[in-house]
Amino acid sequence: MPEQSPLDLAEGDPFGPHNLPYGVFTTADEPGRRRLGVRIGDHVLDAGAAAHALGSPYAALLARPSLNPLLAAGRTAWRDVRRALTAWVTVPAHRPDIEPLLHPLGEVTLHLPYEVADYVDFYASEHHATNVGRIFRPDGEPLTPNWKHLPIGYHGRSGTVVVSGTDITRPAGQRKAPADPAPVFGPSVKLDIEAEVGFLVGTPSELGRSVPLASFRDHVFGLTLLNDWSARDVQAWEYVPLGPFLGKSFATSVSAWVTPLEALDAARVAPPARDFPLLPYLDDSSDEEPGGFDLRITVRINGETVSEPPFSSMYWTAAQQLAHMTVNGASLRTGDLFGSGTVSGPEVHQRGSLLELTWNGQEPLELSTGKRTFLEDGDEVTLTAWAPGPDGTKVGLGEVTGRIVPAH
Ligand code: MN
Repeated sequence: MPEQSPLDLAEGDPFGPHNLPYGVFTTADEPGRRRLGVRIGDHVLDAGAAAHALGSPYAALLARPSLNPLLAAGRTAWRDVRRALTAWVTVPAHRPDIEPLLHPLGEVTLHLPYEVADYVDFYASEHHATNVGRIFRPDGEPLTPNWKHLPIGYHGRSGTVVVSGTDITRPAGQRKAPADPAPVFGPSVKLDIEAEVGFLVGTPSELGRSVPLASFRDHVFGLTLLNDWSARDVQAWEYVPLGPFLGKSFATSVSAWVTPLEALDAARVAPPARDFPLLPYLDDSSDEEPGGFDLRITVRINGETVSEPPFSSMYWTAAQQLAHMTVNGASLRTGDLFGSGTVSGPEVHQRGSLLELTWNGQEPLELSTGKRTFLEDGDEVTLTAWAPGPDGTKVGLGEVTGRIVPAH
């Protein structure tokens, strides 16, 4: 019997040729040589070597140790490279060239596949913002007066964005509960997750010029699962009046895989109806292409599912977030990353943070590894997701995982 080819995938494989997310990998025999890879099933294709072997005009672009040159090359290059990759993994005549360039996922090390330029995080789920408002400001309106007029966000710390699998050291900081007479310092006792989707900018923009809603796909290359680790006790004491700072900046985990937007055309959905017309630069009511994405996220702690947040429920779209963050003339750089904000749906089991799932620790989760209010040392958190693909397929997003290790 002939040996099974790694390209003969089981029907319905969420990492089939309709997906083809990008990553960067090394092999054990050449640990110093980072290479661009494309995931197909349980293998990674050495994209640079494939392009070289097949005489692609994009061979130089793909023979780089990072995604950034491809990101900067722009939308036409993104489309052409994807078309070529699709042919390489599907046309039988290419198999003799392609098969030797496939590495089993279990035999490679995956790295952060791009250099993060600026990192911004938003707050775009009405359900999340309402829950947080009720927890932190029980006597006031849960949503602040600006919330439905603009996508609220803050600038985060790009240098602490880490790839899936990186251990997360429990942060230390100041905290002061309302009843405490003075702040204390020590390891966070309310370490939390935020299940999010990150959007990766490829094409830069000019300083002084805004990026309109309609230009979203000219600038944004793809998306990735993102965990915005959050120290709630640090955050609660520090966040007034300038927003999140050290409660967030210690680490943000992203998947090792970036899913190109082109793989998600079948997952586009209209966002929830707005309560009132938005200002013109944010008004997407007449856009031909729906601005939302139907991504079904699962959050697991130590392997146990604790939440299934639906990205389709997000009030603000990534296109609106991009338009808003550039409307003042702030420019984009290749490698800019912006997080959607915690994804929480309307149901209890759809909440994307422990803050909401346990109502700030008042209602612990009963896990097989014990009760949880917030994360304990040794806990491992994993986000996975899939989206509807073409012809009834599923598009898998690369997982993002991280384990909590004790504070130093
Ligand atoms: Mn966040």
